[in-house]
Amino acid sequence: TTGALLAQMLVEPLGLILRWYDELQVAQVALARLVGVQEIEPGAGDEKVRPDGRDVAADRVRFGYTAGADVLHEVSLAVRPGTRVALVGPSGAGKSTLGRLLAGIYAPREGSVTLGGAELSRMPTERVRRHVALVNQEHHVFVGSLRDNLLLARTGAGDEELWAALAAVDADGWARSLAEGLDTEVGSGGLALTPAQAQQVALARLVLADPHTLVLDEATSLLDPRAARHLERSLGKVLQGRTVVAIAHRLHTAHDADVIAVAEDGRISELGSHDELVAAGGAYAALWRSWHR
Ligand code: ATP
Repeated sequence: TTGALLAQMLVEPLGLILRWYDELQVAQVALARLVGVQEIEPGAGDEKVRPDGRDVAADRVRFGYTAGADVLHEVSLAVRPGTRVALVGPSGAGKSTLGRLLAGIYAPREGSVTLGGAELSRMPTERVRRHVALVNQEHHVFVGSLRDNLLLARTGAGDEELWAALAAVDADGWARSLAEGLDTEVGSGGLALTPAQAQQVALARLVLADPHTLVLDEATSLLDPRAARHLERSLGKVLQGRTVVAIAHRLHTAHDADVIAVAEDGRISELGSHDELVAAGGAYAALWRSWHR
């Protein structure tokens, strides 16, 4: 009937808009985690839920983006404080998804993701952000001064601290050469930062936010090799002393991790050190052999 048709015509775009809105919210939350920006959902979470320790753990996690289609099936992974865990596996296996759950950006459908025994999804977002951050290669520079961009990560920080954070990521050289220094307007309309500089600003924000655990999504670099090497060095410094879950898209960044978790089809199929997994002769060993040929 015309009525039904009309309803469908209305509902379809509405569905689209709602899905889009969801994505936007997720992106906003992700962004907030990354930079330590303002509360997205004030009052969300229970003030009484506090972590007791720094262990991050996924326990029999099920998760899907759409009803009925699970992307993660019964995934368990324990991340000990101070260790480096690498997630490897084929494209679409669910590595980035698991990373987002470990950073508290999505809540599991079943099972739990905990920090120090407390469920991330029950904790105030604000609190989660102080402990765990997601790092990827999307560089977010906001309209405002360089100072404004840094203060997002720690309101009230003094200029000394901001310069120290810039120095920690090797960005003080170019930043000092700016005529207006920290007052330089960046973002659209202001000084156009190079992708590498924008990344450094994001890293400096991480230094200021100082979370003990980082989920690092090493998406293939958009930078030229020289800039990429330079940035990798800065990133290495930022990672020092922190717990790292690295979503490794290249094997060479995974092989010296304390624990390598192989994701296949929404499950963790192998878990162990490089030597253990090579000796076990499974999927990781095959990947490693083919990579070395
Ligand atoms: P890659 O190495 O290619 O990044 P991955 O192992 O990180 O892959 P995910 O990105 O976690 O895998 O994707 C797992 C599955 O979830 C894929 O089928 C993917 O299409 C789907 N997926 C990922 N992100 C979304 C999203 N935002 N909405 C809907 N489906 C998604």
